[in-house]
Amino acid sequence: MAGLSAGRVLSDFFDHVTVVDRDAYPEGALERPGVPQSRHVHALLARGRQELDGLFPGFSEAMRAGGAHELDFPSAFATLRPTGWAPRADNRLPLFFASRTQIETTVRGLFRKLPNVTLLERTAVTGLAATRQGHTKATGVHITPLDGGVSTTLETDLIVDASGRASKAPEWFRELGLTPPEETIVDSFSGYSSRWFKAPDPSRLPRDWWWKGVWIDVKLPENTFACVLIPVEQGRWLVTIAGVAKHYPPNDEAGFMATLPQLRSPIIDKMVQFAEPISPVYSYRAMANRFRHYERWQERLDGFLALGDSACAFNPVYGQGMTTGAVSATILRDCLKQSGPTSPELSQQFFRAQAKFQQIPWGLATGADFRFPGTEGQPSRISSLMGPYMETLFQAGDEDPVVRIQVSRVLNMLKLPTALFAPHIVARVAWWAAKHKFSGKGAGGYSAPAMPPVLASVR
Ligand SMILES: Cc1cc2nc3c(=O)[nH]c(=O)nc-3n(C[C@H](O)[C@H](O)[C@H](O)COP(=O)(O)OP(=O)(O)OC[C@H]3O[C@@H](n4cnc5c(N)ncnc54)[C@H](O)[C@@H]3O)c2cc1C
Repeated sequence: MAGLSAGRVLSDFFDHVTVVDRDAYPEGALERPGVPQSRHVHALLARGRQELDGLFPGFSEAMRAGGAHELDFPSAFATLRPTGWAPRADNRLPLFFASRTQIETTVRGLFRKLPNVTLLERTAVTGLAATRQGHTKATGVHITPLDGGVSTTLETDLIVDASGRASKAPEWFRELGLTPPEETIVDSFSGYSSRWFKAPDPSRLPRDWWWKGVWIDVKLPENTFACVLIPVEQGRWLVTIAGVAKHYPPNDEAGFMATLPQLRSPIIDKMVQFAEPISPVYSYRAMANRFRHYERWQERLDGFLALGDSACAFNPVYGQGMTTGAVSATILRDCLKQSGPTSPELSQQFFRAQAKFQQIPWGLATGADFRFPGTEGQPSRISSLMGPYMETLFQAGDEDPVVRIQVSRVLNMLKLPTALFAPHIVARVAWWAAKHKFSGKGAGGYSAPAMPPVLASVR
């Protein structure tokens, strides 16, 4: 996803762009081995949709045509937060709910239409070629065709590493005699298990089930499993159970199905009783937040950039990765405009600008992760500020639409977290807190009804 967004930007500044991928791209929205995370729920934030629409005109139309559901989260999802069921409300922020493969296939379809791009499939990048005249300058990538053939070097003016969370760039740097950039890791030891279902015809569901999807949050210390059910294209439901603090969800079918009725609400279990399982259970555990600090890298490697998960990967539960990759591509466009495609300053300028942006989703993700016992790593300034304040904001937002919409815009990366500290928001939250000081409503002591209110009208 990050590579396609970056490639789109580069196609405006370079004669030719080559995307090298070790996978063959399937015909249609199907899985491929290089993106194992596509079997799990992938939320596209509003900012991500906005950026992809800007980079790839026609993206939203193509998503709709591919069967993506376009839903406003708080009016379409039954949401069980630590304090109880969130009231049904309208944020006026339609989001796409679709499989990761559909999102990626849609973007790649639009990318392929560019006149000056090549997709080099079944080809692995195995290292970097570089020259040393003063600064080290990357001049190409070593590539190996995976279906036979000779390894070669693809000479280029600019290399962008978008090879994801498992990027081998640190090894490639060592091979060039360069020390890799420092990394910060914040790990809440979270894990996912997911299963796909054929959704029933809506007429078979009880008429008062107004929700199209469900989100059940953890409630610590007793409930360490969250769970989400989202509708995706082709009449399917995707159910992902997320565990925190080393409470990994079961990765076998019997264990997965036995966990659903034990969640804080049986709602998802009741729903899937109407559905037909169409996949095994997939699990994923490499979910730590990892920030590779290129912005303060002591080495200098001109002609080399890194973006997307290879530069900064987040605990995916907050749904930021695809959006962050797309935003990084637009940052790259700004840097290319400013300093030109062959400037020796480009890499450092880009890394600084990208990191300035990345520290925001980083602060939000790691701040939320530090809620969980046993999270390892160093809290950032934003994460220390945001963590405790967020829960109060959610609760205040249940009653105050102004607060709720502001929170949603920040979480969707349409506004900076500072918007949550605007005087009118702080005043509303303080008013809410004063009102509820003695009401007993709070994460402790409050027990939500098993199912959401059925007569939930939209506010
Ligand atoms: C379980 C899970 C759930 C997630 N949920 C969400 C979500 O809800 N919302 C969201 O926005 N993000 C989510 N993410 C993150 C999201 O998947 C990534 O942030 C997003 O795909 C951007 O990653 P990327 O493009 O940098 O890398 P990837 O999408 O991982 O792509 C890397 C590409 O590089 C190729 N590649 C790797 N190494 C080589 C090599 N040596 N040679 C050639 N090709 C190579 C791979 O084949 C692949 O095509 C989730 C991630 C995980 C793990």
